[in-house]
Amino acid sequence: MVENFEDPGKSSLEEKFWVKDIEENQYPKLDGPVNPDRVEFGSPEEAAERIETFAGAAGAGMVGFTKVLPSMVFKGAEVKEKYAVVIGFEMDHAAMDTAPDPPAGKEALRAYWRLGQIVQKTAAFIRDMGYPASGHQVRTFLRDPPTILGTVAAYHAGFGEIGMMGLLISERFGPRVRIGVVTTDLEPPQGEKADLGVEEFCRRCKVCAMECMGGAISTEKRDERGFYKYTIDPYRCVPYFAKYDGCGVCIKVCPFNRKPDEMERFLSAVKRLNEYHRNLKG
Ligand code: SF4
Ligand code: SF4
Repeated sequence: MVENFEDPGKSSLEEKFWVKDIEENQYPKLDGPVNPDRVEFGSPEEAAERIETFAGAAGAGMVGFTKVLPSMVFKGAEVKEKYAVVIGFEMDHAAMDTAPDPPAGKEALRAYWRLGQIVQKTAAFIRDMGYPASGHQVRTFLRDPPTILGTVAAYHAGFGEIGMMGLLISERFGPRVRIGVVTTDLEPPQGEKADLGVEEFCRRCKVCAMECMGGAISTEKRDERGFYKYTIDPYRCVPYFAKYDGCGVCIKVCPFNRKPDEMERFLSAVKRLNEYHRNLKG
C-alpha cells in the first residue's frame, strides 16, 4: 500500500467490494500459464487488430501499442516482456467535476476496478493465444511496488501528451483517463506519438499547479529515467489524495477536461491559440 494511503473509513459498500475484488480476483489473474498451442499471425497489424477488438469489447476506451522502454519501468522493477498493450478507460465527466468531493474519488476507484478487469482479461486472452502476457495496473496503487508507468507507456502508444499535472492528456478523453498496461512478447505495430499542442498550452496555463492544494505540481520538467517530463511530487499529493478520498482537482480544473464530443473542437482551438502566440513572438 502507498505510504499515507489509508481508507478513512467512509468507503461505501460498492467501494469496499471493488477493493476486495481487485485484491482477491484481479491480482492473482494478472499472470498465468501460456497456452502451448500458439496462434500464428500474418503481421503485427493482424495481431493488434485481434487484441484491440477484444479489449474494446471488454470495455477499453482506447487501445494502443508500444515497445517497453526503460523510461516506462519503475526503478528496481522487472518487466519480462518486450512490448506493451496500453489500455485507456474513461472516467465519468460529471463525477470528476465534483472533485475533491467523494463522487470523484469513488469514480477513480471504479475506473481502477474496471480497468483491472479489462487488463486481466486482455492478458489472459493473449496467453490463451499462446504468447506470454502480464497485466499491470491496480497493483501499482493498492499493494505491490509499481512496475510500469502507464502515462509514459500511453504517450509512446500515441494516446496523447503528458500535461503539467504529470498525467496523460489523451486525444479522446483529455485527462479523465486511467491507464492500464499488458506487457507481452506478441509483437504489435508501434504507435505514433500524438501532437496535441499540450506542452505549449501548459507553459501558459499552469492552472493545475495553482489549484493543487498540496503544492504537488511543479511548473518545471525534470529527467525521469531518460524521459524529460512534468512530474507530481507524490509526497505532497498522496496526503491530499487520501484526505479527499481521491482528490482529482488537477483533472477537474484542466481545460482539456472536456466531454468526448467537445474534444475535437477544443483541440483545434488549442492549435490556433498556440499558433497565435507563436506569431506574437515572431
Ligand atoms: S490529485 Fe490533488 S493533490 Fe494530487 S496533484 Fe492532483 S490536485 Fe494535487
Ligand atoms: S491545467 Fe493547464 S497546465 Fe495543467 S495540465 Fe491542464 S493544460 Fe496543462
